[in-house]
Amino acid sequence: MLVSKLPNVGTTIFTRMSQLALETGAINLSQGFPDFDGPQALREAVARHVMEGRNQYSPMTGLPSLRQQVAAKIARSYGVQRDADSEITITPGATEAIFCAVQALIRPGDEAIVLDPCYDSYEPSVELAGGRCVHVPLALPDFAVDWQRLSDAISPRTRLIFLNSPHNPSGALLTRADLDKLAELIRGRDIHVISDEVYEHLIYDGQRHASVLAHEELYQRAFVVSSFGKTYHVTGWKTGYVVAPPALTAELRKIHQYVNFCGVTPLQFALADFMAAHPEHVEELPAFYQAKRDLFCDLLAGSRFTFTRAPGTYFQLADYSAIRPDLDDVAMAEWLTREHGVAAIPVSVFYQSAPEDMRLVRFCFAKREETLRQAAEKLSAV
Ligand code: PMP
Ligand code: GLN
Repeated sequence: MLVSKLPNVGTTIFTRMSQLALETGAINLSQGFPDFDGPQALREAVARHVMEGRNQYSPMTGLPSLRQQVAAKIARSYGVQRDADSEITITPGATEAIFCAVQALIRPGDEAIVLDPCYDSYEPSVELAGGRCVHVPLALPDFAVDWQRLSDAISPRTRLIFLNSPHNPSGALLTRADLDKLAELIRGRDIHVISDEVYEHLIYDGQRHASVLAHEELYQRAFVVSSFGKTYHVTGWKTGYVVAPPALTAELRKIHQYVNFCGVTPLQFALADFMAAHPEHVEELPAFYQAKRDLFCDLLAGSRFTFTRAPGTYFQLADYSAIRPDLDDVAMAEWLTREHGVAAIPVSVFYQSAPEDMRLVRFCFAKREETLRQAAEKLSAV
């Protein structure tokens, strides 16, 4: 009999809630993905490259022209030069980049610190490498880092700390001061960082993203991960990248070449074309998504949900204490889906152990105006 290496893992909440939305015909604000398409020029470029025969393996490290476009975007966004050849690797999704970075860093018996609530792929990646996750809760209500608790959680076995900003599910942002504190905390210790920045361009109210890419000291021990899926509205393309200093990149590539070898070729050609022709796409994203966030929040203002507008990502948390305090959030998400026709994600599933009295669900607002209006109407009637 096969003994599971991941005995505690089932089907993810994202798959379950999207499935329930499909079965019940509910509006799906659960799993994070847009219900609109990526830019037409980008989609046309894929079709063109497929038809023109760019359908064989790309280089293991990623298409050079796409790596150069990523380097140019990093320079424009953060004012730093990262080398396209030795520091940037294209991966089939941010998830694969995270997995490979973890395999490069973690040995049996090592510890990785995750800040709860955290994205679901981190812990299984650590466990498959023989490591163990130490969970440190973010401080409520703002999901800020509790520096004392983080500091207390560091042990001689700690090899890795995960960061995620803008943060899924809360939308919270790390500041430059947070990065300085972390750098100070791990200075002189054998600890690396995986900085999950897949929502780097989804940031609102005039705030700026504090990227580890622009923090020289932290960057020297970091893998910084991003996703074209989020930035170009094409989550199903599962194409991302990871940026790390040359020595770390070399180790990551040893693993990436055997996990997947390379990303999908025509998608990489199309992304490189589109990024070269439309550098403004990235600059327009904050206003584009902020308008959706504000529309959704304005429409929910008269509802019984309470919330603070998300500073980043395309997720809005909402507290339902005034509606069904008797239901835990998993039951609430199901009830909303079945009885009120709007699917959401419970927040407790992002925790090892969530606060008992937490009554939060997550809505994805990466949706057409019409979808947001219909969903808000249903939610306002709850
Ligand atoms: N990290 C976070 C925080 C995410 O929300 C996602 C999106 N599912 C990913 C990583 C994975 O991105 P990708 O789809 O490119 O693998
Ligand atoms: N990142 C997406 C979310 O948080 C889900 C991606 C997935 O289904 N694995 O909703």
